[in-house]
Amino acid sequence: MAYDEQNIFARILRGELPAIKVYEDDQVLAFMDIMPQADGHTLVIPKTPAVTLLDLPADAAAYTIQVVQKVAKAIEVGLDAQGIVLMQLSGAAAGQTVPHVHFHLIPTSVHQLGKHAAQMGDQEKIKAQAEKIKAAL
Ligand code: AMP
Repeated sequence: MAYDEQNIFARILRGELPAIKVYEDDQVLAFMDIMPQADGHTLVIPKTPAVTLLDLPADAAAYTIQVVQKVAKAIEVGLDAQGIVLMQLSGAAAGQTVPHVHFHLIPTSVHQLGKHAAQMGDQEKIKAQAEKIKAAL
């Protein structure tokens, strides 16, 4: 599938839209989801332009999953998470709404997940969670 340079995450990567960032290096960015399915819902995205996991070159996928693990550990420590749901939606048919590949880290149970991309979270609360995650990285 062709990559849309104007998708929301591409614009965040270019600094055109704001994000509550928790981690960034030359290949990957992690930031808070603005419509969290649980407190602490975090997204990890490769900087490589790819729509789905299936489009992502294997080396970028391998590096991104290392950062996913690193951020998951920080969520566990920083937010005292007892469990973390790792979710990745590839394709609109799977429910993907933003066409830039990303991994969801959601510190809750799969049985207690909130609705997907449904409701804006409280910005101040999300910022406070981000500070705790950053402090644990
Ligand atoms: P998906 O449906 O798997 O593509 O997930 C996209 C996610 O991005 C959803 O969980 C949305 O809540 C989230 N989202 C959409 N726009 C933004 C944004 N500007 N900043 C942070 N998260 C966003």
